Amino acid sequence: MNKLEDLKKDIEEVKRRRNSLLKVKEVKEFIAVDKKLDRYLEEYKELYQDEIIKKCSCCKHLFVVSGSTYDIFEDMNHYYYGCLKCGLDTLYKEEYATLEQKAYSAYINKNRLIDYRSSGMWYSNHDDFVKGMEMYAQIKSENEELTDEEIIEIMKIKRDVESRLRKKKLENRK
Ligand SMILES: [Zn+2]
Repeated sequence: MNKLEDLKKDIEEVKRRRNSLLKVKEVKEFIAVDKKLDRYLEEYKELYQDEIIKKCSCCKHLFVVSGSTYDIFEDMNHYYYGCLKCGLDTLYKEEYATLEQKAYSAYINKNRLIDYRSSGMWYSNHDDFVKGMEMYAQIKSENEELTDEEIIEIMKIKRDVESRLRKKKLENRK
């Protein structure tokens, strides 16, 4: 018998086994639960993304540079922008996008006229941008009356002081 015939026989056997398993109560239950889980996950994904889009839509964005990459073909830096308040970030790769990033992408596509003008703060990578968001939230929660511009001024001063301290420490080590 050739390989094709063998395989045909194997397929028939596996099919028979599958059909008999489908009659088992627990197996039936597993299939139903699995389908339900898929449905719930899909629903969750949609609601979660809707929530993020809603948050972005209600936000008076406060943009900063959230990172940059160097484009070797164009010989220039490409800058990304993020909002310190709602987390909207233009930095993502479509193929590796998280649920959150997919929602941002949907929001960005629907709102072509977003003014990304940066407030003057910048971060060299996403992790630092997230730290910046945390700092914004902390200052705002402790000083409700401060405007966004004032908070940015405080953050800039903090950054300057920290970088001066870092330099000093490095110099002292020499
Ligand atoms: Zn925002």
